[in-house]
Amino acid sequence: MNFHRRIRSSLTFKALLLYSLIALVASFGVIILSAIIEQHDRNALSQVQGLTLAKASASALAPALLKGDVAVVELTRVRLSGQTGVIDIRVLDANGALLVPVTNTQTNPGTGAYPGFSRTIASGQTSAHTKNGVLHSAVPIYDEGRLRAVVTHAYNLTLNKTSLLSLINKNIWRGAILFGVVVPAGLLTFIRLLTPLGALNQAAAKAAAGDLSVRLDIKGNDELAVLSSNFNTMLDRLKANFDRTRWLAYGDNLTRLANKTAFNEQLQKLVRLERPPGALLLIDIDGFKRFNDAYGQEEGDRILTIIAGRLRAVVNAHAPTFAATSGKNRPLLARLSGDEFGLLVPGARSAPEIQNTAADILEAIAAPIDLSGHNTNLSARIGIALYPHDAGDAHTLLTSVNFAIDEAKKDGGGTWRFFEPSMSQKAIRRMTLQRELRRALQDKEFVVHYQPKIDVREGTISGCEALVRWQQPSGRLVGPGEFIEAAEESGLIREIGDFVLEESCLAAARWEKLGHDCGVAVNVSALQFASNDFTKTVFKALKQAGLPPSKLELELTESVAMTNPERMLEQIGPLRERGVRFAIDDFGTGHSSLAYLTRLPFDIFKIDQSFVQSMTEDKHARVIVQTVLAMAESLGYSTVAEGVETREHFAFLQLHCCDYVQGYYFAKPMPETNLVSMLESERENLTHTEPSSPEKDIQRLLA
Ligand code: C2E
Ligand code: MG
Ligand code: MG
Repeated sequence: MNFHRRIRSSLTFKALLLYSLIALVASFGVIILSAIIEQHDRNALSQVQGLTLAKASASALAPALLKGDVAVVELTRVRLSGQTGVIDIRVLDANGALLVPVTNTQTNPGTGAYPGFSRTIASGQTSAHTKNGVLHSAVPIYDEGRLRAVVTHAYNLTLNKTSLLSLINKNIWRGAILFGVVVPAGLLTFIRLLTPLGALNQAAAKAAAGDLSVRLDIKGNDELAVLSSNFNTMLDRLKANFDRTRWLAYGDNLTRLANKTAFNEQLQKLVRLERPPGALLLIDIDGFKRFNDAYGQEEGDRILTIIAGRLRAVVNAHAPTFAATSGKNRPLLARLSGDEFGLLVPGARSAPEIQNTAADILEAIAAPIDLSGHNTNLSARIGIALYPHDAGDAHTLLTSVNFAIDEAKKDGGGTWRFFEPSMSQKAIRRMTLQRELRRALQDKEFVVHYQPKIDVREGTISGCEALVRWQQPSGRLVGPGEFIEAAEESGLIREIGDFVLEESCLAAARWEKLGHDCGVAVNVSALQFASNDFTKTVFKALKQAGLPPSKLELELTESVAMTNPERMLEQIGPLRERGVRFAIDDFGTGHSSLAYLTRLPFDIFKIDQSFVQSMTEDKHARVIVQTVLAMAESLGYSTVAEGVETREHFAFLQLHCCDYVQGYYFAKPMPETNLVSMLESERENLTHTEPSSPEKDIQRLLA
């Protein structure tokens, strides 16, 4: 049905129909014209015949007429009158009177002597006239220049006449031949003309459907060839514009890889198809932000371009491995954000199949890069998820691969991790915990405990470290080890940290009012420190509590201090100027350059408890602690040893001139009231017991 309608509405069909109609009408026209011409020819022929016959009859009658032999004349006239078509022959004298009586003449009413004979008599010329299908003629006969007689002749012209209809019938073959020749010839011409039009039509339809690679090949110099060439040029331009627009929408200008939009679209498509199965890899450069901040964005862009090139090379080298199972789909490499790359590998069906690719990617990234004149090595972490094995839709797959990369990050980077269902369970637990933390913050369930710090030389409490705890409604006291990570991930650590800072300043101000010389050390998380308001927040907390800045110590870990050294100087400069002191917490665990670290404007090294606790069995730990203490002394830093649990620990630290100690050997973290009682009893003892020595004081403390 559709096909028929399409045929009927097609230009070719209409043109052919019109052409056939014209050819048919033309053929009829030719038939009728041929018939009319033939009829006209026949008439003319009859007239010539009639006149010739009249002249011949006159010639035949002339001898007898001139002799005056009337009988012969009459005999001849009668004989001649018998000829086919001859209606009447009369012989008149020069005056127009009948020379011989009219006998044996075919009767034809209205025919008599040709009335025009008088004109012949007058002019001496043959004359003729047609009337009612009869040719009347008069032929003069001369004798020695004198008109002797006139022979009139009536000839039936209708004898030869045929009807127009029969002539049409007769000529119909001409029309048929014409139609038979003209129509096929015309059709051929039409087809030759319309075939390129059809090709143009088809090409335009394909182009409209989005296939811009279609081209027309019409040779020659005619309008169609010009049209075809213009059509091709138009498509070339269209394709170039389309490619450019596509690139703007789907390309990453810096690395010349696909961008996130292109990647997501392809991911949606492939995962929905599920045929072939494949793998999604998320590649994140470890600590790239640090490079960017340290060497500037231009250098950072250059590194990203180099990495993109290396990744491209790895992908190209591995593509043939998956070609057999990937169908027409090639691997797609894209830059998803600053230093995050995505790789889609259709055809990868299981973990071992993709492992080599991941290993090669890590190796390629780890190759040295020239950075402002010296070689540096980067590393990356890779999260891998398989579809449809791990997820049947793009969103879940992306979530899964993010779980996997988070785990790789926890492993310290430079590694890959495949998604495992337990990761999502962990993530769910983390999310539940974060929700609970948010609620706990609103319900003010966080409390601060304080762990005393002992001055080794004086044997007294010189200060304390503020350590946050979560006092749950059930009565359970949860330590930071169980929630700090989730609080950092969710950003809640900022609010928790601000609370601890304010609370600690207020507490320290209260102790001061009570006459205790006890400062407070507060831990600062990376997120708090990164905030532009950090300095302001600290000043505000001090002012609000009325605490002298010298009573506040802020503890930063090595990684926080090293992330952005310039920014760190900006943040801590004004605070140090006012007397706030800064400590490097967990010193020795951050793998930072010692040379660099010791140049930072810190006041205190807090030796990590892992070294302190392994000192007794591990010679290396002893050497490290000893070295750090010696180095700090010569550089003018104060030292705090954390996690002092035994008498041996303390003795060793005392021997090597550690300034302060903190640990369960002296006191565990405790609520403020307990600390105040401890400070009170210390004061009691100091005022009543004389003379004092550090040893004795410590013994007293321990008692
Ligand atoms: P940190 O700053 O190194 O704090 C010392 C940790 O060692 C505390 O654990 C403390 O209870 C524990 N500790 C002290 N003496 C001993 C000892 O002799 N033996 C052993 N085994 N442990 C000892 P806590 O309170 O569980 O805190 C753990 C970490 O949580 C802290 O390590 C700190 O990094 C973080 N944290 C605690 N409170 C806060 C806070 O308010 N803000 C931030 N950002 N982090 C905090
Ligand atoms: Mg600390
Ligand atoms: Mg510590």
